[in-house]
Amino acid sequence: MNKSYGINIWGDNNFVIKNSTVNINYKSQPSLLEITNQIRNKGYKGPLLLRFPHLIKKQISTLYNEFNRAREEFNYQGKFQAVFPLKVNQFPNFINTLIDVSKAYNYGLEAGSKAELVIAITHTPMGAPITVNGFKDKEMISLCFIAANMGHNITITIEGLGELETIIEVNQEFNKKRKTPVIPKIGVRIRLHSSGIGIWAKSGGYSSKFGLTSTELLEAYELIKKHALLEQLWMVHFHIGSQMSDIAPLKKALREAGNIYADLKNRGATALNAINIGGGLAVEYSQHAHSKEINYALSEFANDVVYLIKEIAKNKGIDEPDIFTESGRYIAASHSVLIAPVLELFSQDYHEKSLRLKETNPPLISELYDLWTSLNRSNAREYLHDGLDHMESLLTLFDLGYIDLEDRSNAELLVNMIIKKSILLLNNDDTEELKKLQNKIQERYLVNFSAFQSLPDFWGLQQHFPMMPIDKLDIKPSNPATIWDITCDSDGEIAFNGNAPLYLHDVDVDTDEYFLAFFLTGAYQEVLGMNHNLFTHPTEVVVDFDKEGNYLLNKLIESQNIMDVLEDMDYDKNHLDKKLKYQIEESTLINKTQKRELLGKLYLYLSENSYLKTIQANNEDPS
Ligand SMILES: *Cc1c(COP(=O)(O)O)cnc(C)c1O
Repeated sequence: MNKSYGINIWGDNNFVIKNSTVNINYKSQPSLLEITNQIRNKGYKGPLLLRFPHLIKKQISTLYNEFNRAREEFNYQGKFQAVFPLKVNQFPNFINTLIDVSKAYNYGLEAGSKAELVIAITHTPMGAPITVNGFKDKEMISLCFIAANMGHNITITIEGLGELETIIEVNQEFNKKRKTPVIPKIGVRIRLHSSGIGIWAKSGGYSSKFGLTSTELLEAYELIKKHALLEQLWMVHFHIGSQMSDIAPLKKALREAGNIYADLKNRGATALNAINIGGGLAVEYSQHAHSKEINYALSEFANDVVYLIKEIAKNKGIDEPDIFTESGRYIAASHSVLIAPVLELFSQDYHEKSLRLKETNPPLISELYDLWTSLNRSNAREYLHDGLDHMESLLTLFDLGYIDLEDRSNAELLVNMIIKKSILLLNNDDTEELKKLQNKIQERYLVNFSAFQSLPDFWGLQQHFPMMPIDKLDIKPSNPATIWDITCDSDGEIAFNGNAPLYLHDVDVDTDEYFLAFFLTGAYQEVLGMNHNLFTHPTEVVVDFDKEGNYLLNKLIESQNIMDVLEDMDYDKNHLDKKLKYQIEESTLINKTQKRELLGKLYLYLSENSYLKTIQANNEDPS
């Protein structure tokens, strides 16, 4: 029942708890609560996605600094370069910021589709690297040639022999009549014998979707040579999968790739000068020390990569190549935080205020009440057992008709209160019994967000994301919590897990706003997010800081309104509009004035986003 929600494990010093709130550990250190309230006071309700440019910059500079430190330490001659793989987050508020904060590093973009390639061509600074992976047709390869003609430093990674044949064909079309041909650089993706680990193991290994086997590689080499493209062949690429929890598979892959590189180079591919180790650098999402996801630090990762490639270069008598990475998750995950209001608690009736004690109660009820009031640290275990025992007896008495519904309700309330209080008092005794009891008394927090839209990897891969309230952190949370999102889908539930428990505060949301923050949502979640139940991308804001250190809320994009959501589904907006109007006008239940009033209301609602504003009809305060 830790009040810090494991912030020291997953937080990387990006956030600090100050008194009751969680604050950004940067410049004036504003609290997430203050920022959230400011945005909500402008009328933007529902979930909010905050982006922090300083955290993008931090990840990029840390990546470069660690690799450059390792290069110096091992006296490594090749350069370090990196690109951002667009598939991890293509949203303009993210990409524009990324390009802006990475200017000093010659940082580039990696594209895996035509649309991503257009983002890369239009956003990568001239001269910074663009790499193009994934399956490519003739049009996509032609786009790469066009980019090269613009002056871009672009590398086509060949994933199969067919692509190489297309490159040769496109090259003839583009350069036949030219004295000085302009050709993109060529990389080869190799199919490794060694594979990754974990859920993404498919990305590497022999059964991988991508890459050339050694036989194909030799054929490719001959083809490249035959068509006088050896000068273009400069990169060997591999990618063993995402969120590598262990560094051992990477080392194995590096030895394999390094030796392939050296062999090609010694065979005559003299222009070869780069090894691209792909992505896979992991992010620590765990909130509990016993369930950490990673067994290495970035410094170790950089040391291993630089050292291993240096060794291979020395043994094979070749120059030390440039090292490329395509880390995406590591760069993007920490930059965004999703903040969502709690709309309701679903077992609030287990509360003292709901008791309906009578003038004279059945003796067991009075006893339960005494147990509850006199419960303390030293008697908690005994009283808890007594309470559970009484509950059994009371339920039997009810079945036999000796007590009434009010008595039964009092019994349920009191036993729940006793369990809750005992768990709080006994929180250091980590027994199985307590863990089981917590499941019984867990509270369901209905939260105004869609897990399908904002945490799709939780739904699809059971990926955990750190979560915590943004206020009340000076108070020990007492409720074992299950999170419910507002979709009508039972999968939109983050269930209480006794082995990695989440505790939240006992709040009355009718009088007290309570927000949950979900961290490390910046990688993959946004574009994988689906509009299940037609809940769309949340309202987003970029949080910049000025020279004085004060925060600025920039580039706000509100979550789509209802009609735009439907239009995106290819509904005809005008038709819907007409139909709504017609149905009100034709109604025989209401008069003209009432019709006008309803139309006004209807259009107001349609202009709003589809997340909930209120939960109960009698609650005037929008959430
Ligand atoms: C997805 C992908 C990456 C990024 O992987 P991360 O685990 O996010 O770093 C890099 N390179 C290639 C080829 C990819 O497919």
